[in-house]
Amino acid sequence: MPHSDILVIGGGASGIMAAITAARHGAHVSILERMNRIGKKLLVTGNSRCNLTNLSLHPDHYHGARKAFIEKILKQCNVHSTLKLFQNLGLAWKVDNENRVYPLSEQASSVLDILRFALSHHHVDIYCSAKADRLEYRNHQFIVTLKNHRQFTADTTILAAGGQARKDLGSNGSGFELAECLGHHIISPFPALVKIRCDCPYLKSLKGTRTDAVLTLFSGNEKVDSVTGELMFTEDGLSGIPALEISRHIHSVAQHKKECRIQIDLLPAYPADNLKTDLIMRYQMLGHMTAEQTLITILKKRLIIPVLKSAGISHQIRGNQISNDQVNQLVRVLKGWSFSVTGTRSLNEAQVTAGGVDTEEIDSETLESLLIPGLYFSGEIMDVDGDCGGYNLQWAWSTGYIAGKSAAEASKGG
Ligand SMILES: Cc1cc2nc3c(=O)[nH]c(=O)nc-3n(C[C@H](O)[C@H](O)[C@H](O)COP(=O)(O)OP(=O)(O)OC[C@H]3O[C@@H](n4cnc5c(N)ncnc54)[C@H](O)[C@@H]3O)c2cc1C
Repeated sequence: MPHSDILVIGGGASGIMAAITAARHGAHVSILERMNRIGKKLLVTGNSRCNLTNLSLHPDHYHGARKAFIEKILKQCNVHSTLKLFQNLGLAWKVDNENRVYPLSEQASSVLDILRFALSHHHVDIYCSAKADRLEYRNHQFIVTLKNHRQFTADTTILAAGGQARKDLGSNGSGFELAECLGHHIISPFPALVKIRCDCPYLKSLKGTRTDAVLTLFSGNEKVDSVTGELMFTEDGLSGIPALEISRHIHSVAQHKKECRIQIDLLPAYPADNLKTDLIMRYQMLGHMTAEQTLITILKKRLIIPVLKSAGISHQIRGNQISNDQVNQLVRVLKGWSFSVTGTRSLNEAQVTAGGVDTEEIDSETLESLLIPGLYFSGEIMDVDGDCGGYNLQWAWSTGYIAGKSAAEASKGG
């Protein structure tokens, strides 16, 4: 039965960082990974460019039950210490105009490569196609049993099995089951950073259209959140960064059984009053053109007819036939096109899992379980999720580093 000082369950971003850190601190480390290779999810991050962190790192970019927990973790391992760690691993990076950090190569595979080199350099044993099916703690030792009954033992274990998002890439929620078996509570998981489903007759014709917009989510008449960015229409709703960011709130609106609605401002830079004046002037000047033609160069072409239909205006009507009421209605749609939200896509399509292991049961200094000595957590398995922009990977790196270091120190101490 192979024995390690530290067994890392899960070879994703946080498990790899935890293993490298623990090995650098002198521990003998093994990784158990259920997929046929480590880091599968990392390869698709940031559209395969890997947005690995963000220079605007702040606890406000994170969600979860315990803000103080998040603050403590990010204080211990912030964006600068993370970039220093990566620099030591050989990463060259660049920063875009939203402070998002990418490898200079713009290849996620290159980030995985340097992590793999470090694992190999520090003699970390990697077992792939090795799904941990059972995790037991007996006589101050952890025993992990795989599906094929093979067993591994360790003095300490780091649970880095991710959440439940995109199980095709590895994280299928089995980490939650392992944590539950040892007495931990799981805050019910739900999808975050996920496409939104809406009820709107025009979606089929709008599919694939992208436009800059401000999205505002309403629960009944109450404004919940507002996000600006490039929106993309899909065949059944909304995608793009503002839609993904706002999606997290939909779960709680649905739980309160409130009506959920999104208003889209298609012309964020244009105040409504100016827009109305300019449209009236336009219709006077271009009275011979159709309503459709007068909106060309204002909106993306595929948006024009659906917008006019929503405003109750025929696209063939001449500019000089458009009434004042119709202009008011058009401005209302352009500045607040209302979409009824029916839900989100599932965890299988989400970028991140919200919910997870209750952080009340985890030490915020060391990430050690408060229930089982020698058990550590890192990454998305915990009840913490971040906004778009590199914040989720930063959480994986920070927690991986802290869990790896604490586990190595404890294992030496033991
Ligand atoms: C399409 C997509 C794009 C993304 N882009 C970005 C981005 O650009 N920037 C950003 O910050 N975040 C991004 N994210 C989120 C980010 O990838 C995750 O938050 C991060 O990978 C979480 O790391 P983790 O190690 O905690 O979990 P994971 O990366 O999910 O790794 C968990 C690992 O554990 C393994 N595992 C699970 N159960 C077991 C078991 N029982 N036994 C053994 N192994 C097990 C899994 O196979 C997996 O390899 C993206 C996510 C997706 C899906």
